[in-house]
Amino acid sequence: MRALVKTAPGVGNVAVTDVPDPAPGRGEVVVKVVCTTVCGTDVLVHDDKYVGKRPLPFPFVLGHEAAGEVAAVGPGVTGFRPGDRVGMESIIGCGQCHHCARGEYNLCPRWHHIGLTMDGSFAEYIKVPASLLIPLPEGVSFESASMLEPLSLAVHSLNSLQARPAQPTAIVGPGPIGLLHLLVAKAWGVGPILVLGRPGDEERLRISEELGADRVLSAASGEEALEAAREMTDGVGMELVIEATGAPDGVRTALELVAGNGKLVTTGLARETEVDVLQIIRKNMVWMGRVASVRRHFLEALRLIATGRVDPSRLITHRMPLEQGTEIFPLMKKRESLKIAFVS
Ligand SMILES: [Zn+2]
Ligand SMILES: [Zn+2]
Repeated sequence: MRALVKTAPGVGNVAVTDVPDPAPGRGEVVVKVVCTTVCGTDVLVHDDKYVGKRPLPFPFVLGHEAAGEVAAVGPGVTGFRPGDRVGMESIIGCGQCHHCARGEYNLCPRWHHIGLTMDGSFAEYIKVPASLLIPLPEGVSFESASMLEPLSLAVHSLNSLQARPAQPTAIVGPGPIGLLHLLVAKAWGVGPILVLGRPGDEERLRISEELGADRVLSAASGEEALEAAREMTDGVGMELVIEATGAPDGVRTALELVAGNGKLVTTGLARETEVDVLQIIRKNMVWMGRVASVRRHFLEALRLIATGRVDPSRLITHRMPLEQGTEIFPLMKKRESLKIAFVS
């Protein structure tokens, strides 16, 4: 079968090439990929910037956001048959550690992750343990279901923030993760919502407005952003701030915007920045990080889609065949694209 493969360590080293067809072992299922979406993580791997929990198994197939149809089931698999429509989780915990024992396999230090520590979904077929599969109700499109993984992160972090209706909220970073938070926040009645970008984000901010942001701003500076936040909140600041930039100055801007007693969640993958600790103390604020999600977040994300509250496929700006796979990397770096989908 054809697949988009990271062939070797280093920058680049990706190719659409022939790889062996997967065959399901005990407890495994092979899924025909109908739609699979590109994630910032895929670009990090391409750029040799991904820092994982274990070494990457070169060569391997990229991609971890997918939906499709069951093609073959291995021995011992019950509950799935060829032709079933499925989405999938992306993390397999070790099942034995402190966190796995509590159902928090997103924190497992020995996790496996499709498209990172094992072959992923940028291929005609993907082989996964049956336990990762999520049956799709009728009416849930493959395009929306392929985005269950990033959508479940938005569900996870808004749950952690205990977001409530009518809470003033800022989303810093109008990329796919920021805008998935916007969709869930809108569905929950959270707001007014300010979406902040930087110069060059104009197209993404236009889409943010379409998706229901109350105000969008391409802020050249943190002060400009703070002024907008104050205007929207009688000078108080934002009760909830979602940082989804992965950039050091994005993190600092996000901290600035938080109101007294407010909460900040960081989902962007910035490594280091300078932080004014006094600001955190004086605001009496909570700063949390969130990484990945577990089944209950996927199921809540699926319910948002199935009931028509959230349509993540609205973020898909580009659709292409897998054969053009290597084009995604330059395209992802141009900030006019949001989600890119490989469709078969
Ligand atoms: Zn992802
Ligand atoms: Zn574990």
